[in-house]
Amino acid sequence: MAYQVTIQDSQRTFLAEPDETILAAALRQGVKLPYGCREGACGTCRGRVLLGQVEHCEAQLTALSEADRQAGWALFCCARACSNLSIECREAAAGNDTPIRTLPARIVRLTRAAPDVMLVDLKLPSGDRLEFRAGQYIDILLGEGRRRAFSLANSPQTDGCLQLHVRHVVGGRFTDRLFGQMKERDILRLRGPFGSFFLRDAPDKPAVLVAGGTGFAPIKAIVEQAIAEGNARALHVYWGARQRVDLYLLELAERWARQHANVRFVPVLSDSPKGECWRGRTGLVHAAVMADWPQLGGCQVYVCGSPAMVAASRRDFLAHCGLPEEEFFADSFDFAADTLEAIGASDDAEERVEDHA
Ligand SMILES: Cc1cc2nc3c(=O)[nH]c(=O)nc-3n(C[C@H](O)[C@H](O)[C@H](O)COP(=O)(O)OP(=O)(O)OC[C@H]3O[C@@H](n4cnc5c(N)ncnc54)[C@H](O)[C@@H]3O)c2cc1C
Repeated sequence: MAYQVTIQDSQRTFLAEPDETILAAALRQGVKLPYGCREGACGTCRGRVLLGQVEHCEAQLTALSEADRQAGWALFCCARACSNLSIECREAAAGNDTPIRTLPARIVRLTRAAPDVMLVDLKLPSGDRLEFRAGQYIDILLGEGRRRAFSLANSPQTDGCLQLHVRHVVGGRFTDRLFGQMKERDILRLRGPFGSFFLRDAPDKPAVLVAGGTGFAPIKAIVEQAIAEGNARALHVYWGARQRVDLYLLELAERWARQHANVRFVPVLSDSPKGECWRGRTGLVHAAVMADWPQLGGCQVYVCGSPAMVAASRRDFLAHCGLPEEEFFADSFDFAADTLEAIGASDDAEERVEDHA
């Protein structure tokens, strides 16, 4: 028996089966809830259950503590309805309705851009293209229900070609293979696009784009898209890394700022060894943003990178810089939860999303 879910602010309703997540049910019926990792880790899909009961399932305690659960918070990418519900949540901007597809893609180039970063250029089957919004991500399908999320680093204008920026996780099931054995012409299976990390239409608000490490990938896609469209909106790009070598496309970002008056670029190193010739900013990237923008009211902020960096940015920008919660957008690079339970549940939900698409 399906339960009715009502979003309090808009009074939109949809039906959720007991064995599907509230997010999957919403997307299946064209209701655009915001989401990121789909693993119960990043907190992008967080909202409040005002009436009714949910099961929290795989939600991770770091993103949803016991106290949060008691206070009625839920992560809709994991929670399942146990009764009719009234919920409070943000709805993603209209236009996030690109079809989700599963496609093969050929590796056409592997470029070691930093000691632990590989640029992976992929080509889709001849004549095919993937519709997506700059900033979204895809899953690489590894078989047996395992998937790994990677942001698309190119703007959607690049027909039939996709680029990923992959950081090597030592001992990682996928990235160990990518760095050790994979070669050009190998075929990957991918599924997407996913996520609600894309530039919202707000031409008068400066966009502060904050990347940590390979979190530069979706920011690159967003900036390149804005440049290609001749969008004159002020874009302030901050890119944090440990050392100079980790800023693997520094010249590209510097070129954006040189050639486009509306783009400003600030690289920040957290761990520059003594003796390295670096005259730029140092420290944590989100601290550099706070130094430049003690008041973020009137801005939109887009943050992408490690879970710790995204969490610190959210906490400090909201608490100390006056950023309204609804102007904070993030993709947190959480890693996959390869539990059998998570795999079964998420595959089921994804198939339903595809059926709808
Ligand atoms: C929405 C989204 C977008 C992402 N986009 C990117 C991207 O563009 N580029 C990119 O490099 N990564 C990205 N990630 C992170 C990436 O999906 C993970 O790092 C991935 O799990 C690595 O796969 P693996 O099979 O090599 O490692 P796994 O087999 O998944 O992991 C092996 C072990 O390593 C640890 N581990 C895995 N990943 C990490 C990590 N990121 N940090 C610390 N420890 C880890 C875990 O303990 C895990 O048990 C993204 C994640 C999300 C959710």
